[in-house]
Amino acid sequence: MTLTTVPLFLPCTTFSPPHRRHVLLAGLSLLVSTPALAARTATEASASPIWPQAAAVPGGIARLDLGPAATRPIAHWGELPLLVLGDTTRWTALVGIALSTTPGPAHIAVQGEGDNQRQVGFTVAAKQYPVQKLKVAPGKVDLSAADEARFARERAHMTTVMATFTEPLPHPGQLRMAAPVAGRRSSSFGLRRVFNGQARSPHSGMDIAAAAGTPVLAPLPGRVIDIGDYFFGGNTVFMDHGGGLLSMVGHLSAIHAKVGDVVTVGDRVGSVGATGRATGPHLHWGVVLNRKMVDPALFLAS
Ligand code: ZN
Repeated sequence: MTLTTVPLFLPCTTFSPPHRRHVLLAGLSLLVSTPALAARTATEASASPIWPQAAAVPGGIARLDLGPAATRPIAHWGELPLLVLGDTTRWTALVGIALSTTPGPAHIAVQGEGDNQRQVGFTVAAKQYPVQKLKVAPGKVDLSAADEARFARERAHMTTVMATFTEPLPHPGQLRMAAPVAGRRSSSFGLRRVFNGQARSPHSGMDIAAAAGTPVLAPLPGRVIDIGDYFFGGNTVFMDHGGGLLSMVGHLSAIHAKVGDVVTVGDRVGSVGATGRATGPHLHWGVVLNRKMVDPALFLAS
């Protein structure tokens, strides 16, 4: 499939995962075959001052109790290392679930002390995200060969950035994030757009409306691990919050950080802008957990 874009659109479609055709077709067939919205359990829906909201659906997060252990267990979902937090009385794994994940039973592997290995199961429920079908002039859909090549290079680079896995931060307070900017938040995470019958990658983040120049702030303590001016995302900052939890902010008019900077909540990393593919000034905010883009709304404190 030809990579597609149009010059004018909101929400943006930055940072598509690799294998976009496969991802898209899987997602679309999911929509047809399983139209029911996922129901959250009462426990999952309850507000927590510490953990992100759990929602074991594509684009969501599974929160799995690993029980007590003298040392932090090591957990993987397939090859992906997972974020494990807690203390000796109770450890918890947080599992980021890709938008492309097929609903159904799943399990993670947990390595405890010695050779003790066990599996912890969970179920990925279906979730229907909206689909928007649009017709545009054919010349406005396809990327030029040069732009396709640039995007392919950047996607490979971002795949490497998104694989960053460092020691989990202590997170003494919480994992709930502060919004990087105040403003009206779109609920367009997961939105799938189809242009002239060609499916695009789903929207992988949250767009927040704010005036150009508004300070963009770190949502959690962390370290700046990547900055760049990318084709779709424009000026972008990636932050590592430890244990495979990252956040990125895009379309910035200016970047106020450099790689290696240690940030705490509220530190300025950039300014709202419209760089990259954006119709007007807004912030694109993405959250990565175990290399998968998950819904930032699940992390918001309010
Ligand atoms: Zn966006």
